[in-house]
Order: sequence, then C-alpha cells, then structure tokens
Amino acid sequence: MKNKVKISAQISFRLLLLIAICVLSVPTNAQTLAPKGIPGGFTAIDGDILLPTSYVESVIRAQRLSPNAPQATYTTNVWRSGVPPFEIRGVVPFEFDANVSAANQSAMISAMAVLENVANVDFQQCASNVCIFSTTNFVHIANSTGNNSQVGMVGGEQFINIANWETQFIIVHELIHCLGFYHEQSRPDRNSFVQINCANVQGGCSGTIYNNNFALLSSLIYGTYNFDSVMHYSQCSFSIDCPAGANCACTNTVITVLAPNQNQQTLIGQRTHLSSLDRATVSFLYPFDDWKMLDCAYNGNNGTPNGTFNRPYTTLAAALANTPPGGTIWVLRNCTFPTGIYNNQVTIKAAPNVVATFGN
Ligand SMILES: [Zn+2]
Repeated sequence: MKNKVKISAQISFRLLLLIAICVLSVPTNAQTLAPKGIPGGFTAIDGDILLPTSYVESVIRAQRLSPNAPQATYTTNVWRSGVPPFEIRGVVPFEFDANVSAANQSAMISAMAVLENVANVDFQQCASNVCIFSTTNFVHIANSTGNNSQVGMVGGEQFINIANWETQFIIVHELIHCLGFYHEQSRPDRNSFVQINCANVQGGCSGTIYNNNFALLSSLIYGTYNFDSVMHYSQCSFSIDCPAGANCACTNTVITVLAPNQNQQTLIGQRTHLSSLDRATVSFLYPFDDWKMLDCAYNGNNGTPNGTFNRPYTTLAAALANTPPGGTIWVLRNCTFPTGIYNNQVTIKAAPNVVATFGN
C-alpha cells in the first residue's frame, strides 16, 4: 500500500510536470513573435514573405511532385474598409512597435510616401499609435533582425519587420508585399526569362535553409517580365557565396538572365527605385477613384468585368459607359477599338508597353 501510494505520487508528480511543461510551451498569444518577428502560424519563404504555414506546406508538397509547375496562389486581399458602395480602398492603418526609434519611424513614413505618391494608398498611423481600439485590420511595424512582411491584408493584426532602415527601397519592397504583391521572379512565366540555379542556393531550392524560395506562384502580374522591378531578387540572392545575405559578390550565381536580356544580369535586384511597371502595377491595384481598366483579352476568370485591375472591362463601350467625366480609362493590353465619334469627357491612356489602336 505504501509502495502503491508512492507510485501514485510519482505519477501525479510527472503528470503535474507534464502539464507545467505544456502550459509553458503554449504561446499566450497566437501572434507571439519568433526571434525574426514571424507571427505564429506563418512561415517565411523567399527570405521575406510571411505566408500561412499550411499554405507553404501544401506548396512544398506540390513542388516535390512537379517542381516547375505554377503553384496554387495564396489569395491576397487588397486593403479596404467599410462595405460597397461606401467601401474605402487603400487605407492601411498602422502602429509602430516601441522598439522603432524616431529616426526609423521617419524612414518608414518616407517610404510610405513613395507609394502614396504613385497609387491610391494611404498609410494612416492610428491615434496615439494604438490601433486595436480604432480598427480591426492593421499593421504592427517593428524593428527586427530581418526584413519581412505578410502579403496583402490578412485580417486582424499583421506585421512588417524591418532591419535595414537605412535603405528606403528595402522598406518600400516590404510595403509592396503588405499591399498584396509577391516577387517578380515567382511569376508563372519566370522560367522563360531567368534560370534559377538551385545548386548554388544555400541548401538547394527545396532544402531546409531557404525552403521553397523559388516556387512559381501565380500572382498579380502585369505586363512584360520586369527585370527592373524593386520586387525582383538579385543574381546573388541566397547564393552559397553569400551566407550572410544577398548583398555580396558571388561567383555562384543563383539567378541567370536568359537571352536576349543578358544585359539585365547585374541590374536585377535593384533597391533604388520603383520601375515604371512597379508604379503601374501598384497604381492599378490601388487605382484612383475615377480610374477604370480595359483589357480586350480579359477572359473573365476573375469574374464579371467591373473595371478593376482584376476584372477589367473588355469593350471600349463598357469602359466609356462606366467612367465618370474627367476620369481615366487605362488600356492594359494591345487592343484595337472601333472607329467612332465619342463625346465622353474622359482620358484614355495606354499602360506601359501597351499600344491601343483605334479605327477598326
Ligand atoms: Zn520580398
């Protein structure tokens, strides 16, 4: 009996120990930050994109079966508040973590202004730098050991982490992720323009170090492949020669630009400016209120045309009928429109690298 009591006591003690370990292991907050500022339930890919872990794992599984096939896209949401027709697009409420210095806060606000100057986006710091009392969806911006962001409006609190506050277009790059964009080199047509040399990637393209970094993710793409994009990675990104980061000279190149664009080889990965296509793409996803989009080849795969970037009108007549006086119609693809006499007081603009022809 005495012996039995002792065993029970030992079992109870072990049970208590187990419970204690479990309690201590469970994050008290689902968004508790890991060392690099990665929120719970998210995994970093491409070095700086935070996507739901379940999605990343599904991509990894799919890639093992078919390495170069485009992967199912994690649907990103544009920033919006309210409900149609009173919906306000492009407002991004944010707050700074207490670890962001005044100088770094200024650097962030300057980077935000770069995007506010080209698109209908408005980054708004919450009153008293506390968002939770005034809005449901917002960005918490922190100083960290890495640069990363979730993609698009996730819902609830989300994060942008910055280490390189001194480089404005690294911050802009993360802000563009936050607005809903992936990397240029993850476009489904990527392999026609660049070659990824997986043998030169630390741990390989599907290894455990930079797992899943070069998946082909169908994403919001516009126009021709954009070597000059601030969202493109450099020829040395993740190279075995650059264990400390992308900014080193490498002989083992990770991204090789294919013919006939070899002159872009050393230019990819710039972090000094928005390219013209970067400006166009961000502004098309976050258009000014009187902008309408027109694409004669839109196939309806995103839904009935409504004049947005994802669902452009397919005929000039529809675009003219739905664009307010003083507004702008953007032609997104080489299209030919019928001859006619029009008295609509709108401006028709061809997007970069696009030709719009009238008279057929
Ligand atoms: Zn990135």
